[in-house]
Amino acid sequence: MVKQISLLGSTGSIGTQSLDVIRAQGYGVFALAAHSSVEKIEAQIAEFHPRYVTMVDPAAAARLRADLAGMADAPKVLEGPEGLVELAKMDGPDVVLNAVVGIAGLGATLAAIESGHDVALANKESLVTGGHLVTEAVKRHGVKLLPVDSEHSAIFQCLQDTESAKSLTKILLTASGGPFFGMKQAELAGKTKADALKHPNWSMGSKITIDSATLMNKGLELIEAVWLFGLPPEKIQIVVQRQSIIHSMVQFSDNSVLAQLGVPDMRIPIQYALTWPQRCPGPAPELDFTQLKSITFDVADDETFRCLAACKRAIGKGGLAPCAANGANEEAVRLFLEDKIGFLDIGRLVEAVVDSDRFGGSYTLADVYECDRMARQFVLSHL
Ligand code: NAD
Ligand code: MG
Repeated sequence: MVKQISLLGSTGSIGTQSLDVIRAQGYGVFALAAHSSVEKIEAQIAEFHPRYVTMVDPAAAARLRADLAGMADAPKVLEGPEGLVELAKMDGPDVVLNAVVGIAGLGATLAAIESGHDVALANKESLVTGGHLVTEAVKRHGVKLLPVDSEHSAIFQCLQDTESAKSLTKILLTASGGPFFGMKQAELAGKTKADALKHPNWSMGSKITIDSATLMNKGLELIEAVWLFGLPPEKIQIVVQRQSIIHSMVQFSDNSVLAQLGVPDMRIPIQYALTWPQRCPGPAPELDFTQLKSITFDVADDETFRCLAACKRAIGKGGLAPCAANGANEEAVRLFLEDKIGFLDIGRLVEAVVDSDRFGGSYTLADVYECDRMARQFVLSHL
């Protein structure tokens, strides 16, 4: 039986690299979803022949239907955020890979889990905004949540020995430090979108690239790690590893440390999530230690990079505070990419939202969306 995948966010950076892995492994594609890139999805349909496709943007869905009219094995085209959730629920795939960007991925993550699907999760915002709902649903439905984020895949790989995993005492979450590593606020003030979009080691979508420049990405990943591995935030230390060769490490009760290393190529963690518990040859190259001169370590500067400080406070506060931090960040990054606010405004706004309220304890999905809306509104009224 050929493994079948539903791939949400198929036109993005993770989406297209996932299709490289799917092609190399000879897996089948049950369904594809994206926001609005009709041309890209048409090429994917021609190659992978999915049975269902969602275009979240209704105008894009209408164009796609028109283009596919008359095609022999044309997929059924769904639309809107409801179409994304409907696709995530469908029986047929062995795993749903969620590579949508932002809180827009949360509903689909929950729908897939609640329908009994294993989920390969690139969409870290699902865990940041609704971590308690997602992890409860995973337990209730007995499904697997397979991390795709490279750091979390590294930690997951280091914890495959279940006996050792019981004595996990600390996670060392590595960070590249981004394009502005070593700079202070005075220098960061004038940084433009073009400066921030130049990441030293990874080629990614624009939102996560900005998140890497502000270190918001590492803050989101800290929260993601708390939910995935069950350690409190003070047991997760962020370590700058400039070359992005060590993807994270774990420490056990005897102070022994295990690390996962590899070239910075997302197809390695994507493939591990799809082939787990097996390992298979794949499209990513091997790490050449003769070319690698050194592996360095530094401290992550949360005095300067306020998004990271804000995320640490948010997970400490608990409840919906991480959701508020995420919503403020999504809105601030959108404004920064439209040249409407400066680089340092992103951290200022995220921090202000986190410090504005107590954010309660447990929550429902409706509370998550309401908190997200309020955080975005807060940003717009504090420009
Ligand atoms: P991207 O911007 O390249 O792609 C995003 C995908 O989501 C596209 O297919 C787009 O059509 C779709 N999308 C956008 N808005 C949507 C909406 N409202 N509803 C449904 N679909 C929508 O982003 P990316 O870099 O591939 O990142 C995707 C996710 O993976 C993010 O959560 C990111 O944090 C995470 N991630 C990315 C990388 C990376 O190397 N790119 C690494 C680790 C984790
Ligand atoms: Mg990562």
